[in-house]
Amino acid sequence: MAKIGDLLRAGRTFSFEFFPPKTDEEQRVLVQTLRDLEPLDPSFVSVTYRGGRSSRERTTSLVAGLAQTTSLTPMAHLICVAHTRLELAEILVDFRKAGLENVLALGGDPPTDPDSADGELRHAIDLVELARAVGGYSIGVAAHPEGHPRSASRAEDRDRLAEKLRLADFAITQFFFRVEDYLGLLDDLEARGVDKPVIPGIMPITNLRSVGRMAEMSGCEVPGEVVARIEAAGSDPADTWRAGVEVATELCEKLLAEGAPGLHFYTLNRSTATREIYASLGLSA
Ligand code: FAD
Repeated sequence: MAKIGDLLRAGRTFSFEFFPPKTDEEQRVLVQTLRDLEPLDPSFVSVTYRGGRSSRERTTSLVAGLAQTTSLTPMAHLICVAHTRLELAEILVDFRKAGLENVLALGGDPPTDPDSADGELRHAIDLVELARAVGGYSIGVAAHPEGHPRSASRAEDRDRLAEKLRLADFAITQFFFRVEDYLGLLDDLEARGVDKPVIPGIMPITNLRSVGRMAEMSGCEVPGEVVARIEAAGSDPADTWRAGVEVATELCEKLLAEGAPGLHFYTLNRSTATREIYASLGLSA
């Protein structure tokens, strides 16, 4: 087990993100994916979090299981939405008891269920403060290269990001496709006196429509030139896949050449695209 802040100080990190399975079939796929990806020796793996009770238990049991039964260093995501301060403190204490030393402190999205409570903490920065008070954590936060969709302006979002990153240890970005958006975010942070590591989040396009939907929800854009390149590759899903992996590989190469402190892969619980990008980058053992 290691703290991600320490890993980043020691060198580049390569990490994978998973979501907790809801069904036996999803569980089977995830176990296979973990088997396939463990040999790549990731610096850490992260597990997403949704607010409901059963979903909360799924995240906790997956991160605790990873900590106790694999050689991987897990990080739990945690969100402010739909929790009281006391509940969040309890969850943070429980994560520590399960051996976790890393947490990604997130605002979360407003609940769609009208019966769901709003949550006592309003913003991710409040959760960073709470995790610091609990103690023993290396703390990450989310960054949005193209600005967060609920922000009045990109400049205001950068101000908020700078505030929370001053208290946290590192950030991981929302996925994006233009290296300039990532470099612009770093410039804006530097102008605000913040130089904490910001790990770019990578989403390989293996299905144009579903990535388009996720991009829309996250306030980012799949640029026209990327869409055109993937469409030009052919209409067969295998063509989309090959072009999507090529686009992601090129983005990773540019980011590494620009000195990115690591790469964080949104795996969607599948291993093949990540393994192919790893191999193209020459990172496979
Ligand atoms: P915040 O930092 O709270 O920001 C949200 C908005 O409020 C922004 O517009 C910001 O500018 C503004 N703001 C921030 N602080 C203040 C303040 N003090 N006053 C006024 N305005 C402020 N979601 C999940 O539900 N589960 C997950 O596991 C998950 N994992 C993620 C992992 C990564 C790497 C990323 C990038 C996102 C993830 N998300 C996840 C999505 C995330 O919860 C949403 O993007 C959410 O809308 C914003 O989260 P945040 O942590 O950036 O929030």
